[in-house]
Amino acid sequence: MRAMLFERTGEPLRLADVPIPEPRAGQVRIKVEACGVCRTDLHIIDGELPPHKRPLILGHQIVGVVDKAGPEADGDVAGGAEASTFAGTAALKVGDRVGVPWLGWTDGTCRYCRSGRENLCDHARFTGYDIDGGFAEYAVADHRFAFPIPGGYPVPQAAPLLCAGLIGWRSLSMTGDAERLGLYGYGAAAHIITQVARYQGRRVFAFTRPGDTTSQGFAREMGAEWAGDTATAAPEPLDAAIIFAPAGDLVPLALKAVAKGGAVVCGGIHMSDIPSFPYEDLWGEREIRSVANLTRQDGREFLALAPEVPVHTEVELFRLEEAGEALDRLRSGRVRGAAVIALDTAEAQGGRHLRE
Ligand SMILES: [Zn+2]
Ligand SMILES: [Zn+2]
Repeated sequence: MRAMLFERTGEPLRLADVPIPEPRAGQVRIKVEACGVCRTDLHIIDGELPPHKRPLILGHQIVGVVDKAGPEADGDVAGGAEASTFAGTAALKVGDRVGVPWLGWTDGTCRYCRSGRENLCDHARFTGYDIDGGFAEYAVADHRFAFPIPGGYPVPQAAPLLCAGLIGWRSLSMTGDAERLGLYGYGAAAHIITQVARYQGRRVFAFTRPGDTTSQGFAREMGAEWAGDTATAAPEPLDAAIIFAPAGDLVPLALKAVAKGGAVVCGGIHMSDIPSFPYEDLWGEREIRSVANLTRQDGREFLALAPEVPVHTEVELFRLEEAGEALDRLRSGRVRGAAVIALDTAEAQGGRHLRE
């Protein structure tokens, strides 16, 4: 099969012909139709999150069709003890369209897994990081960590739901019932979460890179009532802020923007160092917290909610061999919404192609 391989930091991804993976016990093989591109992929290739295997196939927002099931991944599993333990997805069968997120496997036995916090599992394995991901024609996944794709979503538009959507949703959940919500960094996650937040009756304030009026316009289109530069003060105090950009210097800025009792939620997996700031800025029961990974419960909640809103994802499509270009555009903030690798050309034509 064709796959884009990451081999070394500083080197471009390489298109290669590699063997089609075989699903092992509990796994399904998926014929990949689309795979979203995420900032985490940049952190991996840039050496900020060195992968545990090389060469590595990146990509952890996979949408595709099950084409083969491994030994224990057939219909028997749904009624088994394991399924009830995990309260996981129904058993998958060949032909099902599924989505595979970042969380690819957990041990199910550690302190975190046993307390409903599998996102913090000591031995978690992640898609497109510990496990080969979706920048390829086929991928294998543990059937318990694959979600049915909600009906009505064209394939490319569904892909960003699986990380930008899920991590965004988990981040939004950490803000409680905050009404005035600030979003710092306006990319794939922010454009999805703006729609969800508006649906919930919240007010959204979007902060972009200084001078990025294109993203500010995009944020307003998505439902933000105000959009401006990160360097600009918010028009009124915020009840919470979510930082999706990987810039630590946004933390003290966001902290200054939130009212007493407000939370600053860091939604990314990696961030540059956070500059020091006076304790006074944290005083008043303000809090700073990170969001790590996702649980399958997040996935079930969000994928049920997305069609209700309904969340519409803006995507820019790239061919498999253009994965490097997609990453470059993401790095320089030139993607409107989400970048998605589309492997199925019929679906790709049905999507919105926004690149000049
Ligand atoms: Zn991601
Ligand atoms: Zn665990």
